[in-house]
Amino acid sequence: MVKSLDQQLVKQIEEICASRGVRLTTQRKRVFELICTSPKASSAYELLEQLQKVEPQAKPPTVYRALDFLLDQGFIHRVESTNSYIQCCSCNAHQHYSHLLICDKCSNVIELQDDSLVALLVENAEKHGFTITNHVLETHGVCRNCRSE
Ligand SMILES: [Zn+2]
Ligand SMILES: [Zn+2]
Repeated sequence: MVKSLDQQLVKQIEEICASRGVRLTTQRKRVFELICTSPKASSAYELLEQLQKVEPQAKPPTVYRALDFLLDQGFIHRVESTNSYIQCCSCNAHQHYSHLLICDKCSNVIELQDDSLVALLVENAEKHGFTITNHVLETHGVCRNCRSE
């Protein structure tokens, strides 16, 4: 099962790259498209397998370099607890922390952005004189689709 590709989204990231003066190579774009059309979070290995169907010479570093680029640009997120990747739900946004809901049955990931939750975390950390530079918020459970099955 493959999700249809949102051409509008691809066009949007092309424009963002152009305005930032960074190069969205064919490979980087392909990896992004693969992540977008996957119904679940994709591992680097799965992405490599997919990529090799069109680029048989692709090697793991090819995929990792493309993933690093897409992460840097804020187009995708890494799901730390499952070591996989998802598309960001707001590619054009400023850098943001997200809260991921991960379905343990189908590996689908829902990205939530709740500024009040982040503000609460910052406030709690500040009580300890602690400055947050990064955080990972990942919640595991069962998604609506899998629950209704
Ligand atoms: Zn995001
Ligand atoms: Zn599910």
